[in-house]
Amino acid sequence: MTTTSSRRSLSASRVRAYEQCPAAFRHRHVDGLPDPVGQAARVGVACHAALERAAAGRFDGVAEGPACATEALTHLATVDPTLLKGEAEWAECAEVLKAGAPYEFGEQLLEPESTWELQLAPEVSARGIWDLTRLRRLDGGAEAVDYKCGPSVPLSREEAKYSPQVGLYLVALHEAYPDAPSWTCTLHYVRHGERVSVQWSPALDRYHRARALAVEQAWHTGYFPATPSERCRYCPFRTFCDDYQKTLKGADAGAGVPEDPSDLLEERIRVSGLLKLLEGRKKDLDAAIRGLMGSQTGLETDEAVARLRSRRTKTVSARFLPLAAEQLGKNVSEVVANLASVSATKAKALAGDNPELLALLDEHTTTKTATWLEVKERPA
Ligand code: SF4
Repeated sequence: MTTTSSRRSLSASRVRAYEQCPAAFRHRHVDGLPDPVGQAARVGVACHAALERAAAGRFDGVAEGPACATEALTHLATVDPTLLKGEAEWAECAEVLKAGAPYEFGEQLLEPESTWELQLAPEVSARGIWDLTRLRRLDGGAEAVDYKCGPSVPLSREEAKYSPQVGLYLVALHEAYPDAPSWTCTLHYVRHGERVSVQWSPALDRYHRARALAVEQAWHTGYFPATPSERCRYCPFRTFCDDYQKTLKGADAGAGVPEDPSDLLEERIRVSGLLKLLEGRKKDLDAAIRGLMGSQTGLETDEAVARLRSRRTKTVSARFLPLAAEQLGKNVSEVVANLASVSATKAKALAGDNPELLALLDEHTTTKTATWLEVKERPA
């Protein structure tokens, strides 16, 4: 593998990030805006560190055969404690590592965490790190393994062929071990205990080189359109993303329905993406409201929500009217009038479509909006 100065340095994750949303790619990789590390990323880093140590033991001849869950957990106990926050994250790591065992380190020559670099064009390189590489003793085939510790659903083999990561790993593996009889990239979905393997082929090699170069070209020319989708929900840049805000406000509403069937189909796909986006936004807002309610009421959030939902409406049976009239020494019409004075709905029903009465009703109606804080004050 050669190292030369490059115009842009690509990686599999950069190719994928650009393809998902060029605007988010720009914020992250061109503007250098901070991208907070969440729990899933911290758990992934700690699990990778434990697996790297377990694999290094095999490479150094310290142990043989596949590593069981207990061994993986032993290595987890030695990783940098600042990688994780709190017991829940340690417990999650332990569950993930147990689910992924056994780890097939034995019977093969291997190297954990080796770096690779590719020269895709005179000024364009790509680089990355293989979690594990091995040359199988049995047939000498080269294999690169990537551990997936997140909750995402495993790709099918056909989907994996078109993953930028699998593609660039295979291209790099083929260049690094040109004499091997075969080249395989395996995604080990640790949480699911599943492995998906893809073989190198000349066509796949050409496809992924061209795809990475296309991303580099777009990056080089400064083409960073925003592409709102359900992914916006997890985007750390959405608060200042105009396209995302416009999408939520329905800036394109009223544009009419296209007549061309292919445009209709495209629109339909776009709308289903937007629905997912809005559903995600709704969940965010619900969570924010619940958090605010909890902090302002001092109640456990569920209790505050229960209070909010405990509005009660009362319905008075019609049989009450003659009884009330008798008690009050009035006629039924007078009682109805009294009832109407406290119930806007009944008053409106009484007014029917009499314009004079409706006008009077408007004059004597006061509208009041109860906020959730007032609801909290209501007796249960
Ligand atoms: S909010 Fe959505 S459209 Fe905007 S940058 Fe992020 S992913 Fe792209």
